Amino acid sequence: MSEAGKTDSPEQAEFRAHCRDWLSKNHPGTPPVSLPQSALALTDDDALVWLQKWQKSAYDAGLIGCDYSKDCGGQGLTNCQAIANEEMTRAKTPFLPNIIGLGMGAPTVYFHAQDEVKQKLLPRLLSGEDIWCQGFSEPGAGSDLANQQTFAEKKGDSWVINGHKVWTSLAHYASWMIMLCRTSKEDKYNGLSYFVVPIKSALGKGVTVRPLIKLTGETGFNEVIFEDLVVEDKYRLDEVGAGWAVAMTTLAHERGAGKLVTPASGGLASAEDKSSSIGSANALIRLAKASSRNGKTAADDPVLRDQLMQLMIRQEGFRHNRRRIGVPELNDHPMRLPLQFKLVSSELGQDISHMAYKIQGAASSLYVNDPNAPAGGQWPMAYMSSFGITIAAGANEVQRNILGERVLNMAKSK
Ligand SMILES: Cc1cc2nc3c(=O)[nH]c(=O)nc-3n(C[C@H](O)[C@H](O)[C@H](O)COP(=O)(O)OP(=O)(O)OC[C@H]3O[C@@H](n4cnc5c(N)ncnc54)[C@H](O)[C@@H]3O)c2cc1C
Repeated sequence: MSEAGKTDSPEQAEFRAHCRDWLSKNHPGTPPVSLPQSALALTDDDALVWLQKWQKSAYDAGLIGCDYSKDCGGQGLTNCQAIANEEMTRAKTPFLPNIIGLGMGAPTVYFHAQDEVKQKLLPRLLSGEDIWCQGFSEPGAGSDLANQQTFAEKKGDSWVINGHKVWTSLAHYASWMIMLCRTSKEDKYNGLSYFVVPIKSALGKGVTVRPLIKLTGETGFNEVIFEDLVVEDKYRLDEVGAGWAVAMTTLAHERGAGKLVTPASGGLASAEDKSSSIGSANALIRLAKASSRNGKTAADDPVLRDQLMQLMIRQEGFRHNRRRIGVPELNDHPMRLPLQFKLVSSELGQDISHMAYKIQGAASSLYVNDPNAPAGGQWPMAYMSSFGITIAAGANEVQRNILGERVLNMAKSK
């Protein structure tokens, strides 16, 4: 039985039993290193290596890329990735490090690349041996994504790329980048083409990756400069000028509305800081029970209790809404819930981590690396990170515009 209450087909039931059995014997256990709150904040080489090993073992067991065809490194199954995800989450496994590759790179390459490129790149992407990043945003092209200025010029059988990408998560570890480039200045949308480009092998030879520091003090994202990088034509996805349509495949999967389910896993709490449990209303209740307030615990304060319950109710509502995504009969518009998902989850996460400030009081000014900080200082970090989450994958203001215009058919904003 799936999380959405659907009965498994015989193939799915057999696959679920395999996942459960394998996970019961092969859970990687407590991480020997401190893990960040999300794969997007990975900067520790040891943490990356440990997480890559976990992704590879789950891939080898058939839990990642299950719905991809066998010639591209998948299992050739149907509607089984969601089951693997449910079982990995239930088993509280660590998160998967190649988050951008799995969520955006893999489906885009699968639906738009030549067979030779798919067969070469997808197995190492799915196994996590190659980390991928996404080169969409530029200094002048964020919400206005079609305003790409990075230029790819055709020279013989290759393309020469020059330009500047920014906010590129995981570029410091990436072997490959999915990338939108301008190939014609004549037409804003039809002048875009889509490429997959080597990053790691081109460092110092046309590619420079520089870290950017976030509000949290972490890096995790970067700016990437291209200076005469030569890319073979076979790494162009779909037709010249069709980049915008290819980018829609990427964005649909980023928003959870694509044809392929993204492999997902998580829930493991790091032994040191329990960071992966930070961010849920349940963790807030634990924090309130452990925090003192006027001679009692913060959980005994009636005002805080009421606010905590409001967050629990929103979290529960979110969980049920999420289950509805998998039941077409309960959806009036295919994009409504996927578009709402990012808005609601990022704002709920922000309100939950803000509540931790009220519970911790003055102690919430103590940050990570301070031995006196409650919960290892992870709550203030989660609150500061939450601002980035409301911006990443399309700023929430812009998401609201899209929901208004495309789902509710409201008048277009100027
Ligand atoms: C943590 C993090 C990770 C990221 N990772 C990546 C990555 O890996 N790869 C990548 O390509 N990009 C990445 N991004 C970039 C992200 O996609 C952009 O930041 C986002 O699309 C917003 O673009 P911008 O920063 O240029 O802001 P702008 O587009 O300049 O927007 C600035 C403000 O104006 C508002 N605004 C703009 N247009 C409108 C409008 N029409 N109506 C109402 N309000 C509007 C926005 O909501 C925002 O508040 C990441 C961002 C963050 C925060």
